[in-house]
Formats: sequence, structure tokens, C-alpha cells
Amino acid sequence: MDILRTENMTKRFGGVVANNDLSIGIPEGEITALIGPNGSGKTTFINVVTGVHPITSGKVYFKDQDITGMEINRISRLGIARTFQKIRLFENLSVIENVLVARKSFYKSGPLSVVLGTPSFRKEEKENREKAMELLELVGLEDNAYDSPKGMAYGLRRCLEIARALALEPQLIFLDEPAAGMTRDEFKVIMNLMMILKEKGITILLVEHTMDFIKAVADWVYVLNFGQIIAKGTFDVIEKDPLVLKAYLGE
Ligand code: ADP
Repeated sequence: MDILRTENMTKRFGGVVANNDLSIGIPEGEITALIGPNGSGKTTFINVVTGVHPITSGKVYFKDQDITGMEINRISRLGIARTFQKIRLFENLSVIENVLVARKSFYKSGPLSVVLGTPSFRKEEKENREKAMELLELVGLEDNAYDSPKGMAYGLRRCLEIARALALEPQLIFLDEPAAGMTRDEFKVIMNLMMILKEKGITILLVEHTMDFIKAVADWVYVLNFGQIIAKGTFDVIEKDPLVLKAYLGE
């Protein structure tokens, strides 16, 4: 079953057709990669389905619910999380606080119990800290919990962004270039993380340029060029597709 699917989704920016009639299915519990040359419409796809940009035409369904045009926070509450190509962190908060902020929506305590620090609020705070710590362990950041993200290596900042997205307990996560700019060791951490998330039953859609990474983790690949799907299938199939080779080599 597809956890998310688009039907004839088109997104225009003025005269630019960034996504052209895309019907894409993201199979539940699997890892799907969206690849294609720069400017082919990958980030736009994520932005439209997560409600950042309004759709021009077509439909988006999450678990068969029509979420077309739904507001960004409502979409995230349904269980869809994402990271951004350009990392967005709260630089003045510690690493663990960055994750805790994302869990704010799970707090049941009202503002008064927060101010008064009631026992129920303290219990909730403790549980959320434990959960945040678990997520930091998952992405290999447990020793950095009380550091500032400011000076951290790029790969670690990426991992923190993923931990923050996971704090929303998503069923589906969109990762925009998770392996970009990573060292070999960080790359291994991220690759391992993909497998752990998959084992947990989280569906992943990733936009990525690193072919080794896609080959290693993706169950399915969609290839975009000029906003259109030019190929889909397993990595082994699409890597031999003449249209894909042409798009990448620009022949
Ligand atoms: P990719 O992620 O594959 O590099 P994008 O989705 O970022 O591609 O871009 C697809 C096309 O849409 C490009 O031509 C880009 O210039 C255009 N585009 C993307 N976002 C905007 C925007 N906010 N305003 C105008 N044009 C945009």
C-alpha cells in the first residue's frame, strides 16, 4: 500500500513548471528515493506535499485521506515530518533543547502548570527529556546533548535535524539530501540510521545526489527531469535506463 500518493500533481512558479503532472506513490514501510539533476523539481515535490507551497493542480493523499491544500501544521500532525536541504536549527538552544522544542505539541500540561512547575508537568518534562535522549542516541549524538549546535560538524548537525523531525513521531519522513556534505564516517551513521528507521516501520522518502547512498538504501527510485518522471523502479533498473543516463550526462 502507498502511504502517500500524488495524482497528476502540477506546481507552477510563474512560467516555470517545477512539477509536471506527477503521479507518485510512496510505499508504506519502504525507502523511496527521488533523484534527478539540479532544478528537476525534487525539493518542490516535498514542499508541495508537506504544505509549504500551494499546489497548482492535482491531488495529494496520505493514507487515502485527501490532504491537498491542507495547512502545514495539520499535515505534520497527521504524521508527516521533514528535514530541509538547508539545515534549520535553533542555534541558541542546546542540542537536546532543539529536540525538545519539536516535542512541544505532545505536552498535555496547560500554560499554568508549566509556569507553576506542577508535578504532572515535571513528569511530562522528564518523559520528554528521556524520549529526546533516546532520539539523540539513535542518531549518535548522545554525547553532544548539552552542546550548542553552532560549532558542530556539518554531518552532526544533519543528524540533529533528523532527530528533531523524528521527535514528531512521524509515520512518513521526507529527507532532503541527508548525506550531502558528510564525511565517510558520518555517511555510515546516516546509512545505518535509514535501516533502523525502516525497521521501526517509518516510511522514508529521500532526495539525494549521492548514488552510493541510494544504491545502498533505496527500495524504489523515481527519477525526475524538468519536473517530469522519466523513470521509476529499483536502482539496478533505473541506472541502466537510457533516459536517465541522458538526463545525467546531458547527452
Ligand atoms: P531540485 O530540488 O530538483 O533541484 P527545485 O524543486 O528546487 O529542483 O526546482 C525546480 C524548479 O522550480 C527550478 O526551475 C526552480 O528554479 C523553480 N523553483 C523552485 N522553487 C521556486 C520558488 N519558490 N519560486 C520560483 N521558482 C522556484
